Amino acid sequence: MMSFVYQPLPSRVVFRRGALDTLTEEVARLGSRALVLCTPEQRIIAEDTARRLGDRAVGVYDRAVMHVPIEIARAAREEASRLGADCCVAIGGGSTVGLGKAIALEFGLPIIAVPTTYAGSEMTPIWGLTEGGQKRTGRDARVLPRTVVYDPTLTLTLPPGLSATSGMNAIAHCVEALYAVDGNPIASLMAEEGIRALAGSLPRIVAEPRNLEARSEALYGAWLGGAVLGAVSVALHHKLCHTLGGSFNLPHAETHTIVLPHAARYNERHAPETMARVARALGKPGDAPGALWDLARSLGAPPTLEAIGMKRADLDRAAELATMSPYPNPRSVDRDAVRALLEDAFVGGRP
Ligand code: NAD
Repeated sequence: MMSFVYQPLPSRVVFRRGALDTLTEEVARLGSRALVLCTPEQRIIAEDTARRLGDRAVGVYDRAVMHVPIEIARAAREEASRLGADCCVAIGGGSTVGLGKAIALEFGLPIIAVPTTYAGSEMTPIWGLTEGGQKRTGRDARVLPRTVVYDPTLTLTLPPGLSATSGMNAIAHCVEALYAVDGNPIASLMAEEGIRALAGSLPRIVAEPRNLEARSEALYGAWLGGAVLGAVSVALHHKLCHTLGGSFNLPHAETHTIVLPHAARYNERHAPETMARVARALGKPGDAPGALWDLARSLGAPPTLEAIGMKRADLDRAAELATMSPYPNPRSVDRDAVRALLEDAFVGGRP
């Protein structure tokens, strides 16, 4: 029998080709002194964004990097204070949105997010900060971006490799939402639709990166992935990726792509309904973990943890860290079984 709690999160979403044109209007709803955040690589688009905002932009801060090191977060907070910013525009992927969240966590400044990858952070109240080699995360309503401006034209420059892995990252949010301990029917509908949209569009993007229709479909899937990540809790897969990224400095989207089929196999027999829905959304009824692996292979994503810099000697420690504190997961989280999962992801091979 059904039993669930459903609580939608209050964010405003503007999604359309050319949506960046609405940014000035969107910023005006929330503030008049925006600090524009970006990575060093996206400085040009951030400067263009600041120009569009005119007097409403007080500066561009371009030091966003993956996993939000505490030193960068502190420096960004100081800069926001120094410039008297009353809101942040985060234009970029999860790293840039993450920096906005670090500022919001301290000062409560509203964030207007303009995502350019498929990571989904823009739809979640989840923050992360890395200090002394350990990544801490938490949920706080203050860090949920108040407005999200999705413009698929901004994703045309995302390289095919990163498009593939970032899209698989979004699929991972959807897979774990389907078996979440606090899942609900709306999140599940969104998750299944997100997998369908991404699985359909990512191969087209890899073949033709400037295909705007495929880009739009993938960004739509990414929105759904982010929305379900924000709405329900995650389990073993995200815990493992969080450990591998935060403590072993592995790249975020690639790690998700490699671990996902193996984590799905780990949980398969304990979440049969989820696996049936994942397989159906992938258009491959029957074997969800295998179909996830096939999709990643067809996109040319890196196949093993070894290929992205993991050291075999660190696998034991990773298994320890990921199983140190208990959390809900369809199958009980056992250190030796998780170590075996990591071994599979390290050497690769169809799970
Ligand atoms: P990213 O933001 O680090 O971006 C990767 C690289 O791609 C950067 O150099 C960036 O400048 C570049 N880039 C981004 N968009 C581009 C575009 N359209 N064209 C060209 N280059 C582009 O990568 P990511 O995978 O989006 O984010 C990863 C980070 O986000 C991790 O730290 C992860 O923990 C975090 N994250 C957080 C949440 C959350 O809910 N809190 C969710 C997902 C990811």
